[in-house]
Order: sequence, then C-alpha cells, then structure tokens
Amino acid sequence: MVVIESIADVRRARAELPSPLGLVPTMGFLHEGHLSLVRRARAECAAVVVSIFVNPTQFGPGEDLERYPRDLERDLDLLRPIGVDLVWTPSPEEVYPPGYQTFIMVQHVSRPLEGKARPIHFRGVATVVAKLYNVCAPQRAYFGQKDAQQAVVVRRMARDLDFPLEVVVCPTVREPDGLAMSSRNAYLAPSERPAATVLFRSLTAVKEALTGGEHDADMLRAIMSRALATEHAVTEEYVSIAHPATLDELEIVEGEALFSMAVRLGRTRLIDNFLLQDGQWSTGVLHEASRA
Ligand code: AMP
Repeated sequence: MVVIESIADVRRARAELPSPLGLVPTMGFLHEGHLSLVRRARAECAAVVVSIFVNPTQFGPGEDLERYPRDLERDLDLLRPIGVDLVWTPSPEEVYPPGYQTFIMVQHVSRPLEGKARPIHFRGVATVVAKLYNVCAPQRAYFGQKDAQQAVVVRRMARDLDFPLEVVVCPTVREPDGLAMSSRNAYLAPSERPAATVLFRSLTAVKEALTGGEHDADMLRAIMSRALATEHAVTEEYVSIAHPATLDELEIVEGEALFSMAVRLGRTRLIDNFLLQDGQWSTGVLHEASRA
C-alpha cells in the first residue's frame, strides 16, 4: 500500500495499476462504514484507491471544518489489511492551489434537503469528486447510502460530465442499536448517545406505517416527526419523503421513495435515511462486532 500526497505522483502510480480500478473517496477517521466500501471495491476491482481528504470547500462558514476528527496513522492501519493499493492524502493546497477558481454545480438535486441547510456543500462535494475522478481515473467509484443525496449528486455529475465510470452505492453500516456509523458520531457526549438512535427508530416507524397501508406522504412525514419528538434533546431540521432520483417531495408513496432526515443533538448534526426502490427496502446493515 503506497501513501501519496501529490497529484503528479498519484497519476504516475495510477498508470501502473490495473483496471478496473475502484475509487473510495473519504474524509478519513475511518469506521466500518468506510471499510465496507473498501472491501466491496476490493472484491469487484483489480486495484483499489482510497482518498483521505477533509475537503474545505464543502464546509460552510461556522461548520465543523477545524474540529472534524482526523487520525491518519490509525486510518492507514485500518486500510493496510484490506488490500488497498494506493492511499491519496493530499493537502488542501495540492487540491486548491493559489488562484484556484473552478467549481462544479449540480443544479436541481443539490438544492433541497442537505443543500437547504448547507448551501455550498454539494458544490464542494461535486468539485472535489470531479477532481478525484480526473486524477485517479477509476472505472468504479464507491459511495455510501448513508449520504443519499451525495450519492445522487455524484452520480448525476458523472453522467452529465461524461466520466466513464460507474457509481456504486453501498448499504449504510449501523451500530448494533441502529445508529448509522459516522465520523461525526465522535462528537456525541456519552449522555447524548442513547438519544441518537431516534433517527433509526423514526425511519423504522415510517417503514412500518407504509407497510401497514399508509401511503399519504404528509401523514408519513408526521409519523417521522412524531417519532423524533419523543427525544427532547433532539431538534428536527427536516424530514423528507422524496423521489430517489429527482429528490422532489412526494404526495403519495406508491413506488420508489427516499425517506431522509437531519436532526441536531447538542453540538452534533446527524442525518439518516431508508430507501425504497424496485420494491426493495435499503435500510442498511447492523455491524455486530462494533468497536463502539
Ligand atoms: P465521509 O468520510 O464521511 O465523507 O464518507 C466517505 C464515504 O463513506 C461516503 O461515500 C459515505 O457515504 C460513506 N459512509 C459514511 N458512513 C457510512 C456508513 N455508516 N455506511 C456506509 N457508508 C458510509
């Protein structure tokens, strides 16, 4: 496993790697969710590249860029046994040198949900992912269902800009009690941790209501909100039932739908979702042997 910082060196190393090459973009502080993407890439590709980069352009003013958790040595120790060929760990100056001024905006699907709360977020995501696609030239890029809107944005961007690659979206890995794994869970105080399962409980409640015959999206959103309100420490930011490709809000849930939410719990912002597509629920997988 080689660890490389500069774009020129990554290009040189990539040219020596076989195809298909799988790329797993991350911001580091890795957990089982990230590792599940890397294992999937390892199983499906001849070479695997992982990027570790806390991308400043996807953080808004007052967000958690400075305090975002980082531990590169631990991340590399986690990646070594999985069979990663190359880890790219660029500096912000390598990705955005002085004079940098080019950004990519994926219009419609960047606006609702996370985009409302974080107006420049997906501009930063789309830009850095386009640069990763350019430098690493992967045939497949692996993303987590945990960040459902991000997956929609980077897939749309790859199609619109003719990147010759497939975006693979992998199931959300959850702690044994249902909390979706996230580097940001490290912000949760021990006293807050039990309440953090309310997102999973709310999503489970809406899934049961739909399965029980409730198809009115407003009624279903109310069920999600009511479940969130059972935890007094939790403040709802949004609940949404949207079309999984357009992210337009639905009135009736008949076929496919993305059920998603964002909440605040103390200093921590948490997101989660369930996806109903092709008659199948993607609710994620519980990680039994969790380190948490
Ligand atoms: P991040 O480091 O948070 O930017 O995440 C890097 C990639 O890992 C993204 O594609 C995320 O969607 C994915 N990811 C993060 N958490 C999870 C999780 N709990 N399960 C599956 N994928 C995840």
